[in-house]
Amino acid sequence: MLEGIIIKGYSGFYYVQAGSEVWECTLRGKYRVKNQDFLVGDRVLIRPVSDRKGVIEKVFERKNQLVRPPVANVEQVIIVMSVDSPPPDLMLLDRLLVVAEFHGLAVVIVFNKADLVAPAAMDKYRSVYEGIGYPVILSSARTLAGVDALRERLKDRISVLAGPSGVGKSSLLNAVQPGLSLKTGDVSHKTKRGRHTTRHVELLRLADGGFVADTPGFSRLNLTGMTREELAGYFPELARLEGSCRFSSCLHHTEPDCAVRGALDAGLIDSGRYHHYLYLLEEVISNERRY
Ligand code: GDP
Ligand code: ZN
Repeated sequence: MLEGIIIKGYSGFYYVQAGSEVWECTLRGKYRVKNQDFLVGDRVLIRPVSDRKGVIEKVFERKNQLVRPPVANVEQVIIVMSVDSPPPDLMLLDRLLVVAEFHGLAVVIVFNKADLVAPAAMDKYRSVYEGIGYPVILSSARTLAGVDALRERLKDRISVLAGPSGVGKSSLLNAVQPGLSLKTGDVSHKTKRGRHTTRHVELLRLADGGFVADTPGFSRLNLTGMTREELAGYFPELARLEGSCRFSSCLHHTEPDCAVRGALDAGLIDSGRYHHYLYLLEEVISNERRY
């Protein structure tokens, strides 16, 4: 028996990466009926049958499961923004961070296209997000700055890239490992062929170890299912102040003696982040009413 990871499912076959080899596998009889339960990212045991062909005998329990893209056992999200062309969408960045925290995923924030702006222009982004505790990489797919740091972060983990189109996600992945190319999230919703490709998400294997989903994730997100009380818990710098406000139910908005507003006034919390918190709070509250 060999242990491996499902990297692709196609026409009834599952392709399992075990060490440096890919095995074309079918399912053992008892699994065949619930075929659709298998996801790329699932860890499995396979029984070799013939040359690079095998049967999946066992599936290990999943740690988690993303819906978009449909991948199991994702460990981290690489959120990519460009510092220019297009300028960073910090509202989207903060929303992606909330969703990553909600799913319990590790995060790396990449500010790409560093070659387009003066270094000082990037410092503010770096200091805000590093200050909260997130790892930040300033990169350029042009000059290859930051590419080694990104490759190091991708090592030995299953990762998903996220971020708007045009920020350089495919270019960065190609810089990390020439030849890898990412499917773009946008095309997939327009053409038939595109829809087909979304269903067939694949894990790309990195030479240094680790996998990246070939479809970027988290493109259109709402915060359905989240409650107003839990939102602040997904902003690490607000979560740290939990229990410090006068009211335990404080939503850090207009309540008196709010520790978060105190920290904001003292310049200890970034006002951009705080305003994005309020924006998302409103969204979460209006979602609560709808459901
Ligand atoms: P994706 O949609 O996020 O995958 O973005 P792409 O990788 O397709 O890149 C979008 C455009 O930005 C392309 O024209 C790239 O050549 C360009 N680009 C990507 N990375 C960089 C970079 O670091 N610096 C500059 N100047 N351009 C970049
Ligand atoms: Zn408060």
